[in-house]
Amino acid sequence: MEGSMFCYQCQEASGNKGCTSGGRCGETSETANLQDRLIAELKAVALTLEGRTNVTREFSRFIVRAMSATLTDTNFNPDRIYALIDEARRALRTLDSDIRVQDPSILSVEDTEERSYREMLVYGLKGVCAFAFHALALGYEDNAIYNFIIKALSATAKPDTPHERLALLIVECGRVASIAMALLDEANTETYGSPTICHVSWAAGRNPGILMSGQDLKDLEELLIQTEHADIDVYTHGDMLPANTYPAFRKFPHLKGNYGGSWRTQAQDFASFNGPVIVNSNCIVPVQDAYRERIFTTGMVGCKGTPHITHRHIGMQKDFSEVIRLAKTLPPPTALETDSVILTGGFGHHQVCSVISQIARYIENGTIRRFIVIAGEDGRDERREYYRELAKALPPDTVILTAGGAKYRFLDLDLGKITGIPRIMDVGQISDVYTIIRIALELQNALGIRTLDKLPVSFVLSWYEQKTIAVFLALLTLGFKNIRLGPTFPAFCSPGILEVLTRDYSVKPIGSAEADAADMMAGN
Ligand code: SF4
Repeated sequence: MEGSMFCYQCQEASGNKGCTSGGRCGETSETANLQDRLIAELKAVALTLEGRTNVTREFSRFIVRAMSATLTDTNFNPDRIYALIDEARRALRTLDSDIRVQDPSILSVEDTEERSYREMLVYGLKGVCAFAFHALALGYEDNAIYNFIIKALSATAKPDTPHERLALLIVECGRVASIAMALLDEANTETYGSPTICHVSWAAGRNPGILMSGQDLKDLEELLIQTEHADIDVYTHGDMLPANTYPAFRKFPHLKGNYGGSWRTQAQDFASFNGPVIVNSNCIVPVQDAYRERIFTTGMVGCKGTPHITHRHIGMQKDFSEVIRLAKTLPPPTALETDSVILTGGFGHHQVCSVISQIARYIENGTIRRFIVIAGEDGRDERREYYRELAKALPPDTVILTAGGAKYRFLDLDLGKITGIPRIMDVGQISDVYTIIRIALELQNALGIRTLDKLPVSFVLSWYEQKTIAVFLALLTLGFKNIRLGPTFPAFCSPGILEVLTRDYSVKPIGSAEADAADMMAGN
């Protein structure tokens, strides 16, 4: 099934236009086309569910799970995508539906403007689904999210949905993305406690280790329970780093800390880790020989030929015994260049909002001039060095708030403190932009500022895939303006969408670090 395809959902879309014969992400034409078919089947399920009142949440849960498999760098295993397509068709049979979406290809919508609106909505929905899927793993759900997903997916499936209607749904998608991030925050903090400010080691230990990469905290919890007293150290990687700041995880002495950087350095990090690695949500890059025999996937992640740890059976944890057995036979991790660096994290909204009046005073008396939010995902594009340069270029009376893998570009910088407040405050995973929103809302209240865009807060997003698109829409919907988006504008944004983003929301591309720093300090 190798052959033509079209995909432009991530920042690495070929030529910033679209991938037509495999993607840099590792996607083949076969899996790309299967994912298009899966999305089409999910649209048929959504169309069937629209307006029905006699169905349970099971179908919505399935849509959320299946959509999560189609995020960039998540599932390269055609067998798993086939299985999800089969599941969708079974759902349609159960629902006694003969609805079908005939041509699943993105290019089947010939008008590029209309195609952009439809796809932007689908990509925002993917981000929402990823957040909802992680919340669901902890037993947290919200009908408002499910109902919107069904409504919006259905709209993208109807050929006669005008782009004005799609535009309204994109705005609503931003609002629902905020709800989904809030739900995931509630799930994480009620289950594992509120993150607290703490140091996280980046050093390699002497025991054999297991490395977990991804965003699903429940997997980490179960791995920690199953490795207690096993003389195995557990490390986080990539977006799993913030797990180290939750009280429930810090009770496990064998949670050694973080190893390696973002997914960009995954191949080197996994190679030098020496022990087994588990990837539980995106991003996974095509598996390299150096660690092929000791990598496992779980959740919606899939790679052909890589062992997969399956879903939990009712009343049971996931079974990590094969990983643990393997870890005991392998050497401890090799120390990385970052071995002596100590990270500081855990700036959750419970911590920061408890001192918001003090922070407001610092802003009023000029001690802190501005907060700069540098959030999103990391990636391979060389232009992403901008985010490190920006962190260095910001004046000493600014504080950086960061979330997601973008932080790995500058987390090792020692930018000092302002009256005891670190100049880099890591609030967590990409979904923890919710924490930044909470801080902004509290600051707005404390400072008596009428609209969020007037706060001394600037946003610079580093986007790679669809979760940051959902976050971007959430910020726009809340009323933040002058958001800088880089390293490139999405290929799926048509000229019409770009015009709306720049004209109505003052969205800007990133420029030079120095010029952007000066511009943001001037409130632009
Ligand atoms: Fe290309 Fe990105 Fe799609 Fe992969 S996910 S095929 S790199 S646009």
